[in-house]
Amino acid sequence: MKKKVVILGSTGSIGTQTLDVITKQGDIEVLGLTANSQIDLLEKQIETFHPQVVCVMREDKAQLLSERLKEKNLKTEVVTGVEGLVKVATLEEAEVVVTAVVGMIGLLPTIEAIKAGKTIALANKETLVTAGDLVMGLAREKGVDILPVDSEHSAIFQSLQGNTHKSIDRLILTASGGPFRTYTKEQLQEVTVEQALKHPNWVMGSKITIDSASLMNKGLEVIEAKHLFDVKPSEIDVVVHKESIVHSMVAYKDGSVIAQLGMPDMRHPIAYALNYPERRQATYIEKLDLVKIGALSFEAPRIDDFPCLKLAYDALEEGGTMGAVLNAANEIVVASFLNKEISFLQIPEFIHRTMDQHICISKPSLEQILESDRWAREYCREQVSKCY
Ligand code: MG
Repeated sequence: MKKKVVILGSTGSIGTQTLDVITKQGDIEVLGLTANSQIDLLEKQIETFHPQVVCVMREDKAQLLSERLKEKNLKTEVVTGVEGLVKVATLEEAEVVVTAVVGMIGLLPTIEAIKAGKTIALANKETLVTAGDLVMGLAREKGVDILPVDSEHSAIFQSLQGNTHKSIDRLILTASGGPFRTYTKEQLQEVTVEQALKHPNWVMGSKITIDSASLMNKGLEVIEAKHLFDVKPSEIDVVVHKESIVHSMVAYKDGSVIAQLGMPDMRHPIAYALNYPERRQATYIEKLDLVKIGALSFEAPRIDDFPCLKLAYDALEEGGTMGAVLNAANEIVVASFLNKEISFLQIPEFIHRTMDQHICISKPSLEQILESDRWAREYCREQVSKCY
């Protein structure tokens, strides 16, 4: 029997790579897809995979796509908005929901999918960064697996197989260090959007590429790791590993360290999550040749020059709504940086300022999380607009 999946955010970087894995594997059925507005690509995906339902967030685009499908006599139903997203996430026959949408919009459909008992292949950062306690609590209550799709968390998840939680000493997340790893503080002052968008090892969307350059991406991953693997913030280390071959590690109490290695290709963690607990033949992924790579290097992150990582640890220590505030402020400043309204080094400044002004709620409800997110966006945007 074919495994049945839906993909939330199928036109993005993770979404398209997930469909690539599905095409190459040939034994997974796609029941639902969603997109924000890229209906040309979504239409091609519909023609290839024939899902039952698709959701287009923008209503005008949903209408347009619906007309096009009718002309072509394609039977796929088109729905729209958050309601539509939830409909796709909770499709009765779906077993696995790949959450690859970017942003807070991913939170509600993920929660509804967990309530409906679906296995979650998690690629949406905001889910655990903003609502980690709530989401993991719900998953435990429903007995639902949350399978990480991010390369670092997949590596940790793989390195944990066959071991008990109480034998963990620490988690070691690797970071590529981004394009500015070797830049001096002075050089960092001058960096441009174009430079920040050139990641040395991974091809990703623009938001996450900027987050990689600022090390905020690693900070968000530290927060995710804490929730996914139920460890203390002080038990998570970050080590810069510029080759991106060791995707992360687990250090055990007996002194052993287990790592997962592979070529930097997101299709690997995607395939692992889709097939878990099995491992499938994946000839489409370049095999790791350690001799060809020659050497692997490791260094400490420059936390003073890249303060975003520190801010994420602070938010994690604080807990409650602070993760949502960190995330929201970061989204605002990254957009401002991409619009060339602020400099690279102002990214952590504005996030810090926003966190400082937030009155943290310790055990927030979903509504309080969403409210903190709204507040942080508004406050941060106002601060940014004052500066230029
Ligand atoms: Mg990652």
